[in-house]
Amino acid sequence: MVVQFTVDLNKPLVFQFLTRTVWWVVPMIWLPVVCWCLTMSVQRGNTLPQLALMAVTGIFLWTLIEYTLHRFLFHNNTKSYWGNTAHYLLHGCHHKHPMDGLRLVFPPAATAILCVPFWNLVKLIGTSSTAPALFGGGLLGYVTYDCTHYYLHHGQPSKEPAKNLKRYHLNHHFRIQNKGFGITSSLWDIVFGTLPPPKYSQSN
Ligand SMILES: [Zn+2]
Ligand SMILES: [Zn+2]
Ligand SMILES: [Zn+2]
Repeated sequence: MVVQFTVDLNKPLVFQFLTRTVWWVVPMIWLPVVCWCLTMSVQRGNTLPQLALMAVTGIFLWTLIEYTLHRFLFHNNTKSYWGNTAHYLLHGCHHKHPMDGLRLVFPPAATAILCVPFWNLVKLIGTSSTAPALFGGGLLGYVTYDCTHYYLHHGQPSKEPAKNLKRYHLNHHFRIQNKGFGITSSLWDIVFGTLPPPKYSQSN
């Protein structure tokens, strides 16, 4: 569903700044943080195989968060002022302007805010040495997601699986918006039964 929420982008300058982000800012800002988290985990006594396992677990956790945020936050008709603001900041009004390259990736300020609950979650399930690795993995998952999402809208993939992913995501935007929430994979759509019907997942 397209969220009916309008903000006058010509008014507050700070809003313009917060909602318009060039895609490469995402890896530029967050990849160093990923490296820092992984280094921290090693310094706190994790071996490399443990580090790899935790990072992969973190990436996996992210894919579930990606699905949940997209399905329940971005596609939720928020009524309150703060609900609308959060949706707008995170999503950059992507469903209103799906091809606007500057309103596609998460603005870093919004990501930083999202990091707080995610860090608390990994602290709950991890130890002082595994939590930074889980967090770094999750953040790496996020960077992959945001760059992939950008590429699906603005790139011209000629090979599988990117070609198929693009078709899958454009179906979600332009054909059935209440199905196909997965962006980097359709895994959680399969798990939660939101896979689009076969005629939509084939080409044309
Ligand atoms: Zn969507
Ligand atoms: Zn939206
Ligand atoms: Zn999209």
